Parts: sequence; structure tokens; C-alpha cells
Amino acid sequence: MSRRGMHDVAVVGAGMVGAALALALARAGLDVAVIEPRVPAAWRSADEVDLRVVALAPSSVDLFRRLDVWTAISSARACAYRHMHVWDALAPGKLDFDAADNAELALGWIVENRLIQHVLWQALEREAGIRLICPARVTSTDSDERRRTLLLDDGSTVAAQMVVAADGADSALRNLLGVPTHDRDYAQRAIVAHVVTERAHQATAWQRFVPQATVAFLPLNDGRSSIVWSVQQAEATRLLALDDAAFCRALGAAFDFRLGAVTATSARAAFPLRLRLAEHYIAARFALIGDAAHVVHPLAGQGVNLGLRDVEELCGVLVEARTAKSDLGSVHALRRYERRRRSENALAAHAFDAIQRLFGSDALPLAMLRGLALGAVDRMPPLKQMFARRAAGR
Ligand SMILES: Cc1cc2nc3c(=O)[nH]c(=O)nc-3n(C[C@H](O)[C@H](O)[C@H](O)COP(=O)(O)OP(=O)(O)OC[C@H]3O[C@@H](n4cnc5c(N)ncnc54)[C@H](O)[C@@H]3O)c2cc1C
Repeated sequence: MSRRGMHDVAVVGAGMVGAALALALARAGLDVAVIEPRVPAAWRSADEVDLRVVALAPSSVDLFRRLDVWTAISSARACAYRHMHVWDALAPGKLDFDAADNAELALGWIVENRLIQHVLWQALEREAGIRLICPARVTSTDSDERRRTLLLDDGSTVAAQMVVAADGADSALRNLLGVPTHDRDYAQRAIVAHVVTERAHQATAWQRFVPQATVAFLPLNDGRSSIVWSVQQAEATRLLALDDAAFCRALGAAFDFRLGAVTATSARAAFPLRLRLAEHYIAARFALIGDAAHVVHPLAGQGVNLGLRDVEELCGVLVEARTAKSDLGSVHALRRYERRRRSENALAAHAFDAIQRLFGSDALPLAMLRGLALGAVDRMPPLKQMFARRAAGR
């Protein structure tokens, strides 16, 4: 902390996005406070693979490499996938991606959220420029021309030139600042589980669009697949109530038995799905990042990847301000962050939303249209390459 009793930046929320930002800022020489209500659960290799996994894009892995945490993550448990196969239940088109087409090592890596959080938290604990304040929550906030002050639930205060809310989809700090959001409830839940299939997953991420649902099989190191099955609420309730054998039969059928029968499943969990976009990303000495700024449909597996791109942009803006010896909370600099990230995130969110609507319908003309669209993209290498590069975060 500086002599004036003030941090350069306070990051509220140490999920994957907030922790990555705090680490990146500290490594660039800034003095950072991190406020988080709970220490993330420890990750042990002997534990069952956690049900929450993410598909990390190459751009996210590049960031983790630069932060020097990727070796710890990948050597613990991460499964690279080199191919992706997308198809539709009602139309003949299909779309195939291969990492080699874009000279990438992999299209992405499937990693447990808990492992990433654990490795990042350990790195935060070791970092000299970071003050971890945990457990703590922010109860109110105020700003003047020099600082933003946070009042914590134990009655103490934290002051910083700049405060970043990385406290997730239900961001309490975003609400305290009164930032409005645009919301859409998909009336769907994503069922997640790890399953055994008759045939090997072939280091491939598979996604099938079924009317009113999408089902993705993502490869795990132990040969199982991690599934994300997004279905209407009532259907989710029905599927969750099935016994394991009946669930495996229903899942195998929804996946068109592409990997043969589903022969076993882990426990299952389900998450409600919604679109939530903050109407602005900045306020006085304040910025939103990650799910606090944007929550998107998981069908493209991009939520945390977009959040980590926010990290790169905001870190760039703040470090540039520090190098120029200017105010870290200057609205001028923050506007650049907002302009760049809000448009990209909104574009991505609306694209996933459109895909969800187009592929969610069982109307025959729409089914024909999406069959044609998949086939057309697959047959046009430049267009396909553009999609692949976007998904890789390039
Ligand atoms: C089923 C499903 C599958 C998904 N698959 C993918 C995928 O394949 N690829 C992908 O990129 N994304 C995926 N996502 C999205 C991804 O999980 C999220 O985008 C990501 O977890 C958001 O990270 P975050 O750090 O912004 O927020 P969070 O992970 O929500 O972290 C928020 C942090 O803030 C803390 N916090 C909460 N309240 C407070 C408070 N009041 N004060 C301080 N701290 C607080 C929390 O304890 C937590 O540590 C998926 C999502 C779902 C639901």
C-alpha cells in the first residue's frame, strides 16, 4: 500500500477473471487489493474431476502462460481438443474445425474451474504486490476526485485510485453503483455431468443442436466426456429426476449415439441460463469485467474467454496510465476499455443469442436454413477460418 494509505487498484471478486486481472496488474508493478468472500476450495489430483469445467481458448491459455500459471494448470489436469464437430438433428449440414487449419496446437483445453481458481489463488498468495482481504464483502462505496472508497462488512475501509468489479453475474458492486443491465432469461438449464461412452472421444469437442436443446460432449483426460446439455426448464427437471441408466439412454439418444452408447454417468448438476449485459462498463473510478459485465449462453463456451480478454484490455489501459504517470481512474482511459470490450462482448452475446434462437427452433424452414448455413461455412475456408480465429480469441 502507498504512503497515502491507498492502493492503486482494488479488485472485488477473485474468480478466474478477477484473480487473473489482479495478478496481471501486480506483475506490472501496481499495488493491488483483492476482496473476496471465500477462499476457493483446494484442488487435489485424487479428487473426482469437478463438474464445472470450461473450454479455454488459445488466447486465454496465452494469458495464463504470461502470468506463469499455465504449467501448474496443464500439468495438473487439462485436456487439449484438436477438433470440433458441430451438427444439427433436423438438417444435413455439419461444421468441422481442426486446430491445424489455423496453425494452433489445439482449438482449446478443457479445464476444471476449481483447478484454475486454486492455481490463481496460490499465485495471488505468493505475489508481493497483492493484499488479499478474505473473507470480506463490500457493503457500500463512495468516490471523490482522488479515490474510490469501499466499506467492508467488518466495518473497515479500503481506498484505491481505481476499483474493478469482478464479482460475477450477480455483482453486488454493480448493483451498488446502480449500473443497469439488459437481461433475458433463456428459460433453460444447462445440465452438466461426466460420462463414459462406448467409443473414444478422439480429442474432439462435439456439439449437436436438437430442437429446444443443445448437447455438447467435451473431452476429459481420463477418457470420459464432460457434457453440457442445455434444455428447457421442465425438461431439465425431468432429466435430473431420471435414474442413471435412464439418463444415459436419454443422453445417448440426444447425441445421436455419435460415440456409441453412454454407459455411465457421474453425479449431475444444473445451472440456469440467461443473457445479462451491463449497459455501461465504467463509472467514476470504476470498471466492470467478466461475468459482472456480461453473461452469455454457454453454447459457444466463451464466457470466461471473453472475461479474460477484458482482463488484457483493462490491464493494458491501466498500465499505460501508470507509465504515463496519469490518474489510473481517468475516465478518458477507461472509455477506451469500455468502447473496445463492450462492443466485442455485445456482438458475441447477440451472436450466441441468435444461434440459440435459430438452432432452438424445430420449424422446418429454419432447420433448412441452419443446415445450409452450417454447410456453407464448412465449405468456405476463409469464412471458416474467421470463425475459428474468433473462437480462439485471435
Ligand atoms: C454450464 C456452463 C458452462 C460454461 N462453459 C464455459 C466454457 O466452456 N468456456 C467459457 O469460457 N465459459 C464457460 N462458462 C462461463 C464461465 O463459467 C463464466 O463466464 C466464468 O466462470 C465467469 O468468471 P468470473 O470470474 O467473471 O465470475 P465468477 O466465476 O462468478 O467469480 C466471481 C467471484 O466473485 C466472488 N464474489 C461474489 N460475490 C462477491 C461480493 N459481494 N464481493 C466480493 N466478491 C464476490 C465470488 O466468490 C467469486 O470468486 C460456462 C458457464 C456455465 C453456466
